[in-house]
Amino acid sequence: MPRVLVVGSINMDLIVRCARVPDEGETVHGDDLVTAPGGKGANQAVAASRLGARTALVGRVGEDEFGPRLRANLDADGVDTEHVIGDPEAPSGVALILLESGGHNRIVVMNGANARLGEPDVRAARELVADSDIVLFQLEIPIPVVAEVAAAARESGVPSILDAGPATLAAVDAGLPALVDIVSPNETEAEILTGIAVRDLGGAARAASRFHGMGVRDVVLKLGAQGAYWSGPAGQLHVPGFPLDAVDTTAAGDAFTACLGVTIAAGADMPTAIRRANAAGALACLTLGAQPSMPTCEDVDAFLRHHAG
Ligand code: ADP
Repeated sequence: MPRVLVVGSINMDLIVRCARVPDEGETVHGDDLVTAPGGKGANQAVAASRLGARTALVGRVGEDEFGPRLRANLDADGVDTEHVIGDPEAPSGVALILLESGGHNRIVVMNGANARLGEPDVRAARELVADSDIVLFQLEIPIPVVAEVAAAARESGVPSILDAGPATLAAVDAGLPALVDIVSPNETEAEILTGIAVRDLGGAARAASRFHGMGVRDVVLKLGAQGAYWSGPAGQLHVPGFPLDAVDTTAAGDAFTACLGVTIAAGADMPTAIRRANAAGALACLTLGAQPSMPTCEDVDAFLRHHAG
């Protein structure tokens, strides 16, 4: 069983479906409200656990009405929450998600307790790093915390993946790309971090080459329905996706990154891991909500069997 450590955000997602999102000054009516646990760190931890990894999460929630629910959800999915800290001074992170018909979304994230995850918190969890087969990061917690754990992982010889969302140039300024082994942004994030638009495979190759210039060994660009583009020491490869009618693409990237991490930690090569991650990303598009849509190992196996021939 691969051991995965996730250091990242934990949010409650408040999702309202609407025919279309409002323009400035306009009011539209929503169809329903779904309250579902989310946050990129928690999503990836839940996904990793469902995909068969022994998974621990380091993060912070508020001691408000959402905090205990968020922790209970993680526990129910088998995630080790010993290092999920309750913060008495900040609300739990919340994401307000407007979901337009067609599966597109607009999101406002209020970081709350996530922004107060500190270096002492991760130092307390340091032994978890050395005990892991892979460490996963995203950018919804303070960058210096990510940098500290990434440096510790490198020191211990533990591989790490940076899911570059939500992208901020502060991550580049802090030297994160050179501290992790794999950077895995979506098209928008890649453009923010490299300044290169990723509209086709040529753009993907140019953005990847810019990442290599920042010291990244392997770049895995997430290309939505097109799948993913990998660039590493062994060369470049476009791994096509599994196009389908998306219900809600929220957290498809989190399912992808978690699956990539779990599969690499289990010893697979990159093309195999990316194909499996594409399947996990596609499956995450079929259910509303972030964590409710994270697939299990069996879901991914069945999906790949179905698409084998
Ligand atoms: P993010 O969710 O971070 O914006 P993407 O939209 O690129 O990232 O989605 C992540 C992965 O999920 C893709 O690389 C792909 O494997 C899968 N995926 C996303 N959207 C679709 C879709 N419409 N059809 C099939 N697979 C998809």
